[in-house]
Amino acid sequence: MTRIIYVAFDQLNVERGAMKTADKSTDHIVLVESQRMVTGRKWHKQRLQFLISCARHFAEELRADGWTVSYIQSPTTIDGLTQVKTSNPGAEIICATPNSYRMRAALADFGVTFVENDFFLTSESLFTSWAEKQKTFTMENFYRAQRRRLGILMDGAEPVGGAWNFDADNRQPPPKVHDWGEPLYFEFDDIDQQVLGELDSQAWGNIADKIWGTSRTEALAQMDHFFANHFAEFGPYEDAMPNSSWSGHHSLLSPYLNNGLLTAAEVVKAALARFAQGDIPISSCEGFIRQIIGWREYINGMYWYLGEDYRDNNHLEAGRTLLPLFHDPSATKMRCVSSVVTDVQERGWTHHIPRLMVLSNLALLTGVNPQEFLDWMREVFIDAADWVMVPNVIGMATHADDGVLMTKPYAAGGAYISKMGQFCKGCAFDPKKRSGDDACPFTTLYWDFLDRHAEEFATNHRMFQQMGGLRRLSDLPEVKTRAAQVLDGLDSGLI
Ligand SMILES: Cc1cc2nc3c(=O)[nH]c(=O)nc-3n(C[C@H](O)[C@H](O)[C@H](O)COP(=O)(O)OP(=O)(O)OC[C@H]3O[C@@H](n4cnc5c(N)ncnc54)[C@H](O)[C@@H]3O)c2cc1C
Ligand code: SF4
Repeated sequence: MTRIIYVAFDQLNVERGAMKTADKSTDHIVLVESQRMVTGRKWHKQRLQFLISCARHFAEELRADGWTVSYIQSPTTIDGLTQVKTSNPGAEIICATPNSYRMRAALADFGVTFVENDFFLTSESLFTSWAEKQKTFTMENFYRAQRRRLGILMDGAEPVGGAWNFDADNRQPPPKVHDWGEPLYFEFDDIDQQVLGELDSQAWGNIADKIWGTSRTEALAQMDHFFANHFAEFGPYEDAMPNSSWSGHHSLLSPYLNNGLLTAAEVVKAALARFAQGDIPISSCEGFIRQIIGWREYINGMYWYLGEDYRDNNHLEAGRTLLPLFHDPSATKMRCVSSVVTDVQERGWTHHIPRLMVLSNLALLTGVNPQEFLDWMREVFIDAADWVMVPNVIGMATHADDGVLMTKPYAAGGAYISKMGQFCKGCAFDPKKRSGDDACPFTTLYWDFLDRHAEEFATNHRMFQQMGGLRRLSDLPEVKTRAAQVLDGLDSGLI
C-alpha cells in the first residue's frame, strides 16, 4: 500500500524523520509550498528565497535519486495535503512530529500519523524529565548534563581541559586589526533564479550575493568552510561586533540546522573530529559545542516544556509599537542600531550579540511590545522558526516571562556596546553620557528602564548591583527628561 510521506520545509533530510521510514519502491514523497507561508507578512526576501529554494532543490534531488515526488503549491499546507489525499484515497499520510504548536495541531486534526522527530539530540520526554527536577531552568546545568549524557568533551567524569567553560578566554572585544577571513559565497543556479523571479513584492530586505546555500552540498560546504577557517578563533571572538566583518568567526550554520539540511549530530561529530587534529583551542571547541548541544537543545526543550501560551507573556507590560527603525535603518542616528538593522536588511542575519544586546536591548529598554518584536524577528531572520524565536525573544531578550528563562533582564547601556563593538566612533552620541543632547540613547534608557521597573527589580538579588547604581545617580531627573525626549525621537524616527 502506498504511503504519503509528507516532508515539511524544516525537515529536509533523507536520513531523519519520516524520510527515514520511507520505501522508495512504494511510498510517495510530498512537499507543500503554502502560499500562506510566503505572503501576507513582510518576510525577508532572503528568508523566502532560502526556504523555498532549499525545498525545491531537495525535491529535485529526490526525483533524480528515483523517488516519486510531488511538489505542490497551494493556498495552505492543509489544502495541499487534501489534494494529495483526494488523488490517493485511503493512503496513510506520515510526517515527523512538526516543530511548532500550530502545525502539530493542524496536521493532527487532519489525521496525519506522526513519527519520531529526531532532528534534535534531546527528545521532548528526556528534556521534560530534566526540567521537572529543576528549581530554576539554568542552561548551564542542562549543558553539563548534556555533556555527561552524550559523553562529549569528557575525560571520565571530568570536563576536558579541566573546566566546563572558558569564558575568561572568550568574550574578547574585536581587536583594532584582525584578519576575519572571507565568508563563503555561492552561485545562484536555475532553481534559485526561478524562486527569485517569483518573490512576493511585499517582501522586505535585499538580495545581492548568494550567502545562503540552498542544497545539502552547499550546506556541507559551509560547514567545511567554518571548520577549516573560523573554528579556531570562534571562542575568543564569539561576542565581538567588528565593523570590518559581518560574520566574524561565526559558523553561519543555523539556517541549515533549522531546515534539516544539516543535523546537530553531524555538526558535533565534525567539530570533535576537527578538535582531535590538535590545533583548535579548547576554548573555541567548548564554546561552539555549548551552542549546539547546550543552547540550541535547551531552547527547543523549553519551547515545548513551557507550553503554547508562553509566547503571550508580557510581564513588564510593554506596550510601545515597533519603532520605525526596525523597518528602516535610516530612521535612526544611533550608529550601532542602524548598522545592525542594515546587516539584517542585507542578509537576514546577525550573530547572537547584535540580536541580544543591540536589537533586543533596544526593544526591552524602550518597552516595545514583546509580541510585536517577536513577529518582526520571525519575519526578518533567515534562521527564524517558532520553537527558537519564542523562548529567545520572550524569555532571553525581553524578559517578558518574569524571569522563567533568565533570572535577570539582558539590559545594558552604551558602555557594553562600546566595549564589544566598533560602532561608537563616528556616532552622533557619546556612550559615556546619560543626559544632554549627545547622550547615548542606550545609556539614558538603561537608567530610565531601571527606574521605571524599580519596584519589580528591588526583590531580584541578581539586580542588586544595578539597583544600587541607580540609587547613587545624582542626575536622575535630567536622565528622565532626556529619556522622554529619546523615546519621542525614536517613535518619530528623529533620534
Ligand atoms: C533574540 C535572539 C533571537 C534568536 N533567534 C534565533 C532564531 O530564530 N534561530 C536560530 O537558529 N537562532 C536564534 N538565535 C540564536 C543565535 O543568535 C543564532 O543561532 C546564531 O546567531 C546563528 O548564527 P551561527 O549559525 O553563525 O551561530 P554560531 O554562533 O556559529 O553558533 C552555532 C550554533 O549554535 C546554535 N545556537 C546558539 N545560540 C542559540 C540560541 N540562543 N538558540 C538556539 N540556537 C542557538 C545555533 O544553531 C547556531 O548555528 C537567537 C538569539 C537571540 C539572542
Ligand atoms: S554611542 Fe550609543 S547609540 Fe551610538 S553607537 Fe555607541 S552605543 Fe550605539
